[in-house]
Amino acid sequence: MMDIIRVEGTNRRLRALEPQIINLVSEVIASGKYLLGPRVDTLEKTIGQSWGVSALASSSGTASLQIALMAANVKAGDEVIVPALTFASTAFAVQAVGATPVFVDVDPYTLNLDPQAAHAAIRDNTAAIIPVHLHGQMADMQPLMELASKYNLTIIEDCAQAHGATYHGKYAGSMGNFGCFSFYAGKNIGGLEDAGLVTFSDSTVEQRIRRLRDLGRTTERYVHQEWGLRARMGEFTAAVILEELKYLEDWNQRRREIAARYDAAFANLPIKTPTVALGCGHVYYKYTIRMPSALEREKLQRHLAKMGVETERIYPTLVSDQPAYTNGTPHRVEDLYVAKEAVEQLLCLPMFPELGEHEIDRVINAVQQYYSYVAYSCLLTSC
Ligand SMILES: *Cc1c(COP(=O)(O)O)cnc(C)c1O
Repeated sequence: MMDIIRVEGTNRRLRALEPQIINLVSEVIASGKYLLGPRVDTLEKTIGQSWGVSALASSSGTASLQIALMAANVKAGDEVIVPALTFASTAFAVQAVGATPVFVDVDPYTLNLDPQAAHAAIRDNTAAIIPVHLHGQMADMQPLMELASKYNLTIIEDCAQAHGATYHGKYAGSMGNFGCFSFYAGKNIGGLEDAGLVTFSDSTVEQRIRRLRDLGRTTERYVHQEWGLRARMGEFTAAVILEELKYLEDWNQRRREIAARYDAAFANLPIKTPTVALGCGHVYYKYTIRMPSALEREKLQRHLAKMGVETERIYPTLVSDQPAYTNGTPHRVEDLYVAKEAVEQLLCLPMFPELGEHEIDRVINAVQQYYSYVAYSCLLTSC
């Protein structure tokens, strides 16, 4: 039986850390503090120092986006620009504060929010833009920041896929008014449960974020200053993420090495490998290739499955085409030429730091073999 090479490696990562994780369970139980305690504090300080920004933990990436939108006072009647090619949470958070998501097209090379398309989508009631750093590469922040200052908009970076990614030397989460991270297990770092983090540079929003994540409270247990979410991070989760944080740079480096091997091996094949924009430090949350057509993607995906290589389509549908929006839920859609085409063509290959050299070879050989078959059948039919 041939081993299947999985497309992501969460289980391998957590199994390798199992002895440490089990110790952490005991430590946290012994400490007597289970939520928003000293481990959460340390995590916030460590991340803040590494990425040059202030940070407060929360219960998920989705909750972080909602907290940021609330802290920015985005409300019913406002519009918020989001890329159409993203995870549903980016738009759902907008919904959650009563505002309207506006789905905008992406750049054909990086697949991140297209600043020109974002510009064209701005109206009088536009309150914020949420650029998503898709697949591990930061969106083109400079023109977006210029739009924000010209039209007085809040920028909330969706950093759920970009732990440690950089843009001209600046870390994801340190450029916009807010940055929102997820520590769901499948991300570049993540524990065993849902967890997240909000980053911000303006210290005047700190108290507000503390309140919003904890039912509107700060220090007094039964004093609720305002309506807030139940979105605390647990001490155990913080301890696991702190442990993983020690390896993040190495893991991201390994992801880049694997990407470089794939890039080189596929350079002469008719598939588009990920484009890294000038000045961007990619952290390859996903290694996503783009096939010439939906049919070609289907054929390659089936071939790879036969060869024991798992792949995935991220995302199989644009958020604006999800039942959650086609059912009449208020939203607005701009022209989505690039996103509509890309969504039919993208395919993620196995990408995680624990991939062994022989596994990388197997993925590469399987892709190359597909093209030698194609070339051979073309010769036979002289196409
Ligand atoms: C994972 C993800 C989220 C949501 O994070 P959760 O922790 O799962 O709530 C939001 N945006 C993007 C782009 C994501 O990939």
